[in-house]
Amino acid sequence: MEKSDEYGLDTVCQLSDKSIADKWGALSFPIYQSATFAHRGLGESTGYDYTRVSNPTRQQLEYIVASLEKGTDAIAYSSGMAAVAAVMELFSPGDRILIDLDLYGGSVRLFNEVGKKNGLAFDTADFSKSEYENFDGENIKAVYLETPTNPMMNVTDVRKLAAWTKERGILLIVDNTFLSPYFQNPLELGADIVIHSGTKFLGGHHDTVGGFVVVKDKELDERLRFLYKTTGAGLSPFDSWLILRGIRTLAVRMERAAENALELAKFLKENPRVTDVIYPGLPEHPGYDIMKAQARGFGAMVTFKAKSRELAEHILGNTQLIYFAESLGGTETLITYPITQTHADLPKELLEKNGIDDRTLRLSVGIEGIEDLKKEFERLLA
Ligand code: PLP
Repeated sequence: MEKSDEYGLDTVCQLSDKSIADKWGALSFPIYQSATFAHRGLGESTGYDYTRVSNPTRQQLEYIVASLEKGTDAIAYSSGMAAVAAVMELFSPGDRILIDLDLYGGSVRLFNEVGKKNGLAFDTADFSKSEYENFDGENIKAVYLETPTNPMMNVTDVRKLAAWTKERGILLIVDNTFLSPYFQNPLELGADIVIHSGTKFLGGHHDTVGGFVVVKDKELDERLRFLYKTTGAGLSPFDSWLILRGIRTLAVRMERAAENALELAKFLKENPRVTDVIYPGLPEHPGYDIMKAQARGFGAMVTFKAKSRELAEHILGNTQLIYFAESLGGTETLITYPITQTHADLPKELLEKNGIDDRTLRLSVGIEGIEDLKKEFERLLA
């Protein structure tokens, strides 16, 4: 296996696990579309027995994701939600989990509708304001967050939070989807588990749904691998190959998309028909300094508020270059309306508390020409 820690992350995107190299030397790792693998004799497995447990194509992908996230293992799931649900299986009835106030709506739905049914209890705090310090931590088994958050871009100091969780023996779980491992590595900041929706920046082309759990602790890894083979939400070989291919260009996509996002954020700020522009790469963002200390870039997600609901609706109904669509992290710019899409199932009080209203729009900025993106918004906001 190539030692990935000798290389920069842009190079890691190009590596492969040579211990399972294709014997013909194919540079594009083959799609092993096989459910099962024949044994050469009793006790003579090729290393692969059954694809629910492991598969060579998926293993190549897991090698790259673990390397990018500085973990010892990455486990590939059939979706980001399958990854979050798998992590929840580590807990037992009666366990309490402290979650951040602002999270992807699907994760909140899973916690409220499935987690609670399974006997888990969830407390909420605004981590960006260090509100977790109001909890004594005694009964808490895990802390769960995203930073920056979806969609309000709140930033949490992960090192500071990790010091708090470590002191109390609490598991720290970070959903790193928004920045991707190219810009942020929570395991290096003290997290125990990193989650990704691989559907987003890792896949990068809006063509595949997938998810990852990355760890650096052997015992935790063994428990997760056991749950993985037992519950069976593994990523298919073809989808593994698509995400593997997507990751080849992760570095250049992230750099370009983040560059566009900053330009567009500055441009929207100047427009009188926009009231708020929330992007952690703007120096006035309250999380700017923390981001500089814990991440290598500010990402490609920009949230803004139109002056009125009518204007928000006008924008959504009149896009030409960009797309009005759920999801994020692809090469094309998407605009999302959190109150009817990603956060539609959230209770009204929580939306209000987070400041998500009918004027809030979320952009996943793509890699188009920045002048064309500016022209699109000039037209939409005219
Ligand atoms: N986490 C975040 C931050 C997300 O934005 C999403 C999806 O939008 C998910 C998790 C869930 O991932 P998936 O849609 O791949 O199941």
